Amino acid sequence: MTAWLMLAKEASKRVSEGYDDHPSTHYSWDSTVPNHGNVQVGDVIVLWDSKKLLGLSTIEAISQGESTKQTPYCPKCEKADVAERKKLLPRFKCWNKTCRYTFDNAHWKTKEVKTYRSQHESAWISADGLFSADELRPLCVKPKSQNSLRELDWEKVRQALANISEPISLNIIDATQKAIEGGHTITTVRTRRGQGSFRKRLLKHFGEKCAFAGPTPPQALDAAHLYSYAANGEHHTSGGLLLRRDLHKLFDLGLIAVNPKNKKLDISEELMSYPDYKKLHGSWVTVPVTPEHMKWIVEHWKMHRDTEHDNAILT
Ligand SMILES: [Zn+2]
Repeated sequence: MTAWLMLAKEASKRVSEGYDDHPSTHYSWDSTVPNHGNVQVGDVIVLWDSKKLLGLSTIEAISQGESTKQTPYCPKCEKADVAERKKLLPRFKCWNKTCRYTFDNAHWKTKEVKTYRSQHESAWISADGLFSADELRPLCVKPKSQNSLRELDWEKVRQALANISEPISLNIIDATQKAIEGGHTITTVRTRRGQGSFRKRLLKHFGEKCAFAGPTPPQALDAAHLYSYAANGEHHTSGGLLLRRDLHKLFDLGLIAVNPKNKKLDISEELMSYPDYKKLHGSWVTVPVTPEHMKWIVEHWKMHRDTEHDNAILT
């Protein structure tokens, strides 16, 4: 199981360097970065901003491309092992062992680079400021690494996340990983930009009604929809459901599922101590279930309530 600590610098800096990032949905890097080719779909991505942790997720997809990039090289020895310094002047230093020249104006050359962009929206867990940079570094396989892509010791990260005063659940990361490994490619996403009209259609179709809990004010309803990793975030407009926000979140985490055999809600053991959720256990979905709904209800069930027995029945 591989996890990566990736540096999301301040937006302005990254944009000026030609990267287009949004920590909760995607991250870009290129072949000038060590480890660039080692990152795989299904790996965990942990993003920080050099001062603190931002959040973490499972990588659903990596798109690759080609581009060119201006890279500095040393005017003296002509090696590209040149770093731009944040505080010290002169601005550049050559790290070539036999050179170590410092200079204000680098020479630049155009380099062909491979580009990579992760997509990791579905499993994103915001953990802004939960760990400082000093707490993150020891969790790396090489704590002294200065690379923008660093391998993490995932077991250490898990333990660190379990040992804080309010531990965060990693269920969504684990479930997404399991789904990717098992070849399942479908989950739901929370309401996003571009779904406005989709949401309106669902409200018109179902009324102000949560598919799990019944009548609900529209302000508290999310449009939940079919989402395919392989389709790179494409919006599927059939098979949507309106879900009360808390129930949607719990459904995404697999704490609530719909049993495809009887279309009744299945509340996880973990939620049974909460009377409001417990009383939903075994109740029917409140809206007509279409074949499109069934497709993702089945996928969701496989992902979160997976047993050989159930799969044998479903497939
Ligand atoms: Zn040099």
